[in-house]
Amino acid sequence: MTCCELLDLICDYTDGYSGPEAIRDLEDHFKVCSSCAALFNTYKKTSHICRKLSKINIPEEVQNRVHIFLKDSINKSNT
Ligand SMILES: [Zn+2]
Repeated sequence: MTCCELLDLICDYTDGYSGPEAIRDLEDHFKVCSSCAALFNTYKKTSHICRKLSKINIPEEVQNRVHIFLKDSINKSNT
């Protein structure tokens, strides 16, 4: 699994859509890729913050920007 594929799993995970298989894939990847493990922790926190903010109507555009920022972080850590 590539780091980009993992990001999709992370999004599903934080949205609560992950099955046990996806969670096992995530954990397997974290064992071999510390940058994704670190990113996952950041993402969990960020997504928690986003959910809090969504109660006061955070614009979808801002949420998308966070998503793009995280994707960029993964791409940079891969190069
Ligand atoms: Zn990775």
